[in-house]
Amino acid sequence: MKLTDLGVIKDLFTRHGFSFTKSLGQNFLINPSICPKIAEMGGCDREICSLEIGTGIGVLTKELAIRSKKTVAIEIDRGLEPILAETLAEISNVEVIFADFMEIDLKKLFEEKFKDEEVVVCANLPYYITSPVIMRILEEKLPVKSLTVMVQKEAAERICAKVGTRECGALTVAVNYYSDPKKLFNVTRGSFAPAPNVDSSVIRLDIAKEKKYDVKDEKLFFRVIKSAFSQRRKQMINPLSAELALSKPTLSGIAENSGIKASARAEELSMEDFVQLCNGIYDHFND
Ligand code: SAM
Repeated sequence: MKLTDLGVIKDLFTRHGFSFTKSLGQNFLINPSICPKIAEMGGCDREICSLEIGTGIGVLTKELAIRSKKTVAIEIDRGLEPILAETLAEISNVEVIFADFMEIDLKKLFEEKFKDEEVVVCANLPYYITSPVIMRILEEKLPVKSLTVMVQKEAAERICAKVGTRECGALTVAVNYYSDPKKLFNVTRGSFAPAPNVDSSVIRLDIAKEKKYDVKDEKLFFRVIKSAFSQRRKQMINPLSAELALSKPTLSGIAENSGIKASARAEELSMEDFVQLCNGIYDHFND
């Protein structure tokens, strides 16, 4: 069954009484070249397991499963259950779990489904949960080798921007803290049904096995980044002073001791600058 064929999709929908739910980001891939590319460039391998978020009718799920040792897929919409039962019927190494990815106990899921296995995550993400999904996987420090996701083109550019440039934001720094992001390829809006109003890109985050940066307090680090980028075109000392309840002269002193100009904007700092600054703030509070 060719799951990228519009006739096949319409027939499945009619027979199972299914219709798209826009609010769940249901734009299904109909360009046949994309899913095999995501599975291959996402590092699927018969020795490795894969996890998918958002199956739709199973078009990517199928490509992941035929290239992986085992595939677990999470889908929020139970209305897709009879369709998936049909489209994945001949694939034995796949399991679909109907749940909200944002609510699921990921540690338990990994323990139960992937114990001691290497895992890659691949997904064509609903745009409204792109950042929370990415951050959830990174922050929970799961045994995930890489995360390959389709996101809005603008989000891909932001995530893969170089830290210390105008395009960089809080998400860029957070992603770089845990991984090495890389843009893989662009996908036009016509590759989906229904077609969204924006183009997309597939990115891959190669997750570091060891801690990349020597940050003394991660919670403080993420608080500082969020605050520093909240007024990205202004001197970051202003929002930081309010967020941390530290006077501007005290913060200027900490910044300068860390080798950063007190007048700097968040988008001018490198990863190392952020680390030094946060460790300086940590020392100030703890000395
Ligand atoms: N993988 C399919 C494809 O490429 O055609 C579907 C991709 S579609 C952009 C996103 C899918 O994610 C939809 O099937 C939607 O129902 C599902 N979804 C939306 N929010 C979700 C959530 N919180 N947890 C799990 N799945 C979700």
